[in-house]
Amino acid sequence: SVVALGHLLMDIQLYLADKPDVGEAALVGELRYGGGGSASNFAVAARRLGLASAIITSVGFDGFGRVLLEELMREGVDISRVKIVIGQQTGTSFLLVYPSGDVKVFEYVGASEAVEPKDLSDAAFKGFDHLHITMYRLDTAVHAARLAKKLGLSVSVDPGRIWSARGLDYLRELLAEADYLLLNESEFRALLRGDVGEAFGLGIDMVIVKRGPQGATAYLRSGEIFEAWGFKVEAVDTTGAGDAFDAAFLAALLEGRGVDYALRFANAAGALKTTRKGARSSPTREEVEKFLAT
Ligand code: ADP
Repeated sequence: SVVALGHLLMDIQLYLADKPDVGEAALVGELRYGGGGSASNFAVAARRLGLASAIITSVGFDGFGRVLLEELMREGVDISRVKIVIGQQTGTSFLLVYPSGDVKVFEYVGASEAVEPKDLSDAAFKGFDHLHITMYRLDTAVHAARLAKKLGLSVSVDPGRIWSARGLDYLRELLAEADYLLLNESEFRALLRGDVGEAFGLGIDMVIVKRGPQGATAYLRSGEIFEAWGFKVEAVDTTGAGDAFDAAFLAALLEGRGVDYALRFANAAGALKTTRKGARSSPTREEVEKFLAT
């Protein structure tokens, strides 16, 4: 079972019909609305892989907030830890999806970061095996990580682009509580300047670097390195691929699988996600296993 701390956002996705640099205008071929935000993508992906999952986050008392909560309930994610904030708009993400599947994101955090340290006690984490943290208010994230560690949960951090760009000093206190650090390649350069030693120095046991179509690499504190190639797929939308990867990787580890298998399983989940539109289109366990078997 996993609990995630981070954003729950309304994703507004504009699928560009054409390269956007045709002068100053571009045609949008398709418009989609749907649930997004890394922590909630993770919680949904984990559910589809068969884990119990919960989310700690907040939304506004408005239409978007209601739609987001209904969606999570339908997916079976435990929303009892979601704080509803009156007077702030539900966080919203604007995503430009290029014909290649690459994405440019503009994030309005809004009501999404209203969970304060004082809102969280042991009860929020009891009964869970693992806490996954994505970008959030840092004081709340550090507090959550400490409570979770004290209660015996393992902790992973996927800082994403914005947190990674703030650098290692900013995240030091949080990373000191983490067992796993998950990054994509540009975040790896921004946060660690490509040097895993920095993370091990803070007490992290494993750094996982996601390399898009090239797959992923896991660096262990012991010095061991595991590498897994990506799968060849027709990518249409990479939104949430990293979150699907994280959920699958941790699900496999929590089931006692080795790092080699976990990387393959996660690459398959990430690759399958990129073949479908939307942040919440991560695959089920059956779909991942079938894909791996072919
Ligand atoms: P993020 O989404 O966090 O930027 P990546 O782009 O590296 O991270 O994607 C996460 C994972 O999703 C990758 O490690 C890989 O397993 C899978 N993935 C992403 N893009 C592709 C692609 N074009 N083809 C196959 N797999 C992909």
